[in-house]
Amino acid sequence: MKRDALLATLDEWLQPHLISDYCPNGLQVEGCVEIKHIITGVTASQRLLDAAVKAGADTVLVHHGYFWKGEDNRVIGMKQRRLRTLLMADINLIGYHLPLDIHPEFGNNAQLLQRLGASEISAVSGPKPDGVLMQGYLPSACSGYELADQLETMLERTLVAVELNEQPIQRIAVCTGGGQSFIEQAYQSGADAFITGEVSEQTIHVARECGIQFFAAGHHATERYGVKALGERIAENFDIAVDFLDMDNPA
Ligand SMILES: [Zn+2]
Repeated sequence: MKRDALLATLDEWLQPHLISDYCPNGLQVEGCVEIKHIITGVTASQRLLDAAVKAGADTVLVHHGYFWKGEDNRVIGMKQRRLRTLLMADINLIGYHLPLDIHPEFGNNAQLLQRLGASEISAVSGPKPDGVLMQGYLPSACSGYELADQLETMLERTLVAVELNEQPIQRIAVCTGGGQSFIEQAYQSGADAFITGEVSEQTIHVARECGIQFFAAGHHATERYGVKALGERIAENFDIAVDFLDMDNPA
């Protein structure tokens, strides 16, 4: 498939033009024109790039790409090595950040809720862009301890931090990745529990004082499923091989 045709399809699915983001969405580094083999992953780290080169892939598709607002824009050091790896191998780098968090079907938030078996999945109204904080109802009420166990089994890792109480949980709010600052909006939306990737010192106080149960389940671990689902959709629709590579990250 031609690169531009794939990019047009991805833009149609993900609608990046509707969102103001902290990085460019879509093609970030241009490689070859014909796309046959895509490696998907959470972050375009050197490890992921080296694995893509080894696999003979022509494209890397990620949630965390490059060229973030405010970063040093010189091409030196780690950034030079990453760009050199891509350019030497003629590999395209495609990245979708917020569009791949908020998408109602294969966004990170929706995917995490789906995997927990949640129903009535919807965007919490208020936080922008729509879908950056999402909610759903667990199939049956459970305790915080049970939800912690379920998350650990599903994500195959121990949680980063939890703050539990004795209340049953049914309605949950989710903002994957570094979404801890949304805890108050999760509480105000009426959620019994809030799941995100990271934790800050003050997050625990908000959880204690508002009485909302809190789960920090890892930035990387909570953001695996969006890009994975997007890759699966590409493989279903086009004659392109897509492999998801999970480069584990404890954060
Ligand atoms: Zn992220």
